[in-house]
Amino acid sequence: MDAKKVTAIVTRAVPYGDTDMILTLVSVEEGRLTVTAKSCLKPKAKLRYATEPMNFGEYMLAGKPERLVLADCVQFDSFSPITLDIEKYYASALILEGLQKLSIESNPTLFMHAIETLKAMAYEGKSAEDGVTDFLIYALSDNGYQVDFNTCGSCGCILEEECVFSEKDGVVCSHCAEFKGIVIDAISRKYISGEDRNIPPQLKTKANMALADIIGQVLGLKIGKHYFTEFI
Ligand SMILES: [Zn+2]
Repeated sequence: MDAKKVTAIVTRAVPYGDTDMILTLVSVEEGRLTVTAKSCLKPKAKLRYATEPMNFGEYMLAGKPERLVLADCVQFDSFSPITLDIEKYYASALILEGLQKLSIESNPTLFMHAIETLKAMAYEGKSAEDGVTDFLIYALSDNGYQVDFNTCGSCGCILEEECVFSEKDGVVCSHCAEFKGIVIDAISRKYISGEDRNIPPQLKTKANMALADIIGQVLGLKIGKHYFTEFI
């Protein structure tokens, strides 16, 4: 039997049959992997913890590449404080889903940034909204989109008020904006650019929805609106 070791996080876990689970792991080494965790739903299953979404560790996998089976796991972190806060819980679900969808192939930088963001929410007092913002900005930059929210991508002026995003020009001022584009209001722009991060949570969520629209356009990643309605 082949065996391998990967550093990975569980992004999804679905029961299968009476006692098995089908896990989606995102690994540093190989990106997304589907793994069967046998008998993990039995009452005394030793590896139950390894099947929980957000469990981060070193996973030992056996079996053929198309039929990987969980053999063992050394846990690094479960980010458990996140599960005690409903808003952080939804934020982490958004992060796991985003990471999973953007990791069809190995994406080690985004992986590291996702772990950093979960850690900051679990242990360093980072709010759910700020965690989502950080992750969405990483999702853009780690996939090659360095979006500048400070200067107009067309005329080069310093952005002060609202701006408009288009795939062709990036972020532009309202004079340079074409008819179609994602409008980002002045408060959202200042928040996303880091100029003023001290705004009420509802406004942060509004900014995050604009970021999610941009990501939908450039990366084709649709982020479920339900994550944001949970916040508002
Ligand atoms: Zn301009």
